[in-house]
Amino acid sequence: MTEQRRCTATRRDGRPCAAQALPSEPYCWAHSPTLAEQRQRSRAKGGRNSAKAARLRKLTPPRLLPVFDRLETALDEVHTGALDPRAATAMAALARALATLLTAGELEERVRLLEQRTGGEQET
Ligand SMILES: [Zn+2]
Repeated sequence: MTEQRRCTATRRDGRPCAAQALPSEPYCWAHSPTLAEQRQRSRAKGGRNSAKAARLRKLTPPRLLPVFDRLETALDEVHTGALDPRAATAMAALARALATLLTAGELEERVRLLEQRTGGEQET
């Protein structure tokens, strides 16, 4: 029988963390001081560990990169109880709106370029 060890940390809202502890530590991935240090380091370097994350970052419009980073941090913060999930939900909604606007603007620009190139008669 495998016993599921729970994280022994206390969330900032005073409730115990319910996440599963890491095999080698009494804490979950979000509360682990070891991992926190690693995360801090990789952030300081501006590096992302996985190739996939790096690729996704490259696809993100530059204007949205700080938003991307903020949301990534918010994910940890919600998990550790440092951030109110409702605040995170609001942040996510705003980020989505921002991304939609930027994407629409970019599409508009590309259509305009295409029309210029083909001598389109869309001008009104
Ligand atoms: Zn925890």
